[in-house]
Amino acid sequence: MRKHLVLLSLGALASCAAPETEMADARPAFPLEHLDTSVHACDDFFQYTAGGWREANPIPETEVRWGEFNKLREANKQRLKELFAEVVAGTFEKGSDEQLIGDLVVSGMDSVARNERGTSELVPFLEAADAVTSLEELFVLMAQHKFYGVSAPVNAYVRTDAKNSKVNALYVGQGGLGLPDRDYYLRDDEESVKLQEAYRAHIETMAELTGSELDAAAIYALEYALAEAMKSRVEMRDADKRYNPMTVSEWQALAPSMPVAAYMAELGLDDRTVVNSAPEFFSRMEAKVANFSLDTWKQYHKWHIINGASGALNDALEVASFEFYQKTLRGKPKMNPRWKRVQGSTGMLGQQVGHLYADRFFPEEHKAEVEQMVEDLRTAFRGRIDQLTWMTDATKEKARKKLDAFTYKIGYPDKWEDISDLEISKDSYFANLKSMSVYFTKKNLAKIDEPVDKSEWGMGAHIVNAYYNPLNNEVVFPAGILQPPFYNPDADAAINYGAIGGVIGHEFSHGFDDQGAKYGPDGNLENWWTDEDKAQFESLTTQLADQYSSYEVLPGVNVNGRLTLGENIADLGGLTLAYYAYQNWKGDKEIEPIDGFTDEQRVFLGWAQVWQSNGRDEYFKNQVTTDPHSPAEFRVSGTVSNMPEFKAAFGCEEGENLKPAGEEITIW
Ligand SMILES: [Zn+2]
Repeated sequence: MRKHLVLLSLGALASCAAPETEMADARPAFPLEHLDTSVHACDDFFQYTAGGWREANPIPETEVRWGEFNKLREANKQRLKELFAEVVAGTFEKGSDEQLIGDLVVSGMDSVARNERGTSELVPFLEAADAVTSLEELFVLMAQHKFYGVSAPVNAYVRTDAKNSKVNALYVGQGGLGLPDRDYYLRDDEESVKLQEAYRAHIETMAELTGSELDAAAIYALEYALAEAMKSRVEMRDADKRYNPMTVSEWQALAPSMPVAAYMAELGLDDRTVVNSAPEFFSRMEAKVANFSLDTWKQYHKWHIINGASGALNDALEVASFEFYQKTLRGKPKMNPRWKRVQGSTGMLGQQVGHLYADRFFPEEHKAEVEQMVEDLRTAFRGRIDQLTWMTDATKEKARKKLDAFTYKIGYPDKWEDISDLEISKDSYFANLKSMSVYFTKKNLAKIDEPVDKSEWGMGAHIVNAYYNPLNNEVVFPAGILQPPFYNPDADAAINYGAIGGVIGHEFSHGFDDQGAKYGPDGNLENWWTDEDKAQFESLTTQLADQYSSYEVLPGVNVNGRLTLGENIADLGGLTLAYYAYQNWKGDKEIEPIDGFTDEQRVFLGWAQVWQSNGRDEYFKNQVTTDPHSPAEFRVSGTVSNMPEFKAAFGCEEGENLKPAGEEITIW
């Protein structure tokens, strides 16, 4: 639901570290050696701004992509490593953030205990599946195992009601695949067929390692049926079509053979209304459910119990899971060291990790500076709306109202979440991960029908990312992203407007992307557009979707312009807003060029620097199927191609990747 800037991860820990940590030198605003001056900025702005960087920064063996973004994430991981080492060495009150994180880390790092236990902790779960005598009983068991994080064809969770954003609603939907997307099952090209074979072989390996008897072909056939019934990622982006309120009995009537009511009854939630995000999935499944024996359904569930626990048990399981999901599927040659894997599992304690991080590493003065920048971007957006030629005054008035209503969160939450009643011990890693899963699932379901707490954060303060939440109409920038190359207190204003200003503009623009624009100022799904303006908007966004669909990442592998449409609108809007916010800041000031680049040019360098990166082929193939963000290259070249401001700054008459004058797409 939330629109993240990117699903990725720093280099120099600039001047902002606290006294306990050794400080790096001030980081240059834009190091010239990152450029590739053998190409022209007008022809290939990505290569021009990243070519030198890309040559000097090969992808580490443990990564699938590597960029300035990832370097920042890496630096944050090192900081957390130090913090966690302190927490592990100390003695803390039970239920404190330090105790919870520290004991989780100790249990995860204890490879001896983990290997001794092997897969024994899975036994009760697998036995429960074996004992099932009907499909209804299996769906009841799936509901029980939901609390332990086991994936199933039914999904149920509590979230802000999109049509009454003050209150939480119960959402249900589709799920239950072992491969990352339904398309991995449905494609029949040679490479996809090989991956499907490798997946079945992986199921067999995991069966052997856990002493289970699993028929990989039968499990695959069931997952294939689920995949066939599913709505695609592009379809799932449509906020209107995701909103289907119905009673549980109406839902059950869509698929009488699939015991969803029994599943909901086990959760104590059968006598009520749900918002169904994929009713089509259940209708289509009706014809398929009976094609599979109870035994196949049980094996399918057992596979998901094993798969879900693969990172929580012994080395053998973790390595096998890495071999398929990371190496084969995403092209990662080498496994990350244990401390990083365990650090990754503290994700559920994101608020607590963020608390420790923000206390240590976030300089308060940055908050006021970034707040000012957020307001600068809002002012620039207002100016852009005023001058749009494709939108009528009636809709402009509504757009301004929405823009004025935007709220923002910067750095870290005003109040910290209390989870002191969570049970975590130094003993079993598996038990700890399950304990967290049960705790947070219960916590989520307990919010049903409750008023929405608008002060909650959807991301830990240490995270290098940002998001727009349309249901709160808010933009959120955790402390983690407020560092170079995004925000560099030592850089010139132009660089910072292009980088963090571009990010802020990007998140603002999500409120006005093809889906975000369906929500009003209070976060409700409601139409505030005239039919005429809506048609104009859809025509422009369709042009942008077509442009991105024409981009080839690898031979025969194209960007999906419909999947990435929201992000591409946000990139184009974001960089445009950043440019005009910079112009407002500049006013009548005379700004001298730096390193031969004018200040206008440096706005674009600031944006491009964020996306300097290399990626593996397998990573790109996975990205275009599953990730709503376009590959970095197109986040730079595709964005500037539509900006006359870019051409003016670099004096481009024309350029290989640029739209001819007059054909640029201007949305915001
Ligand atoms: Zn985004």
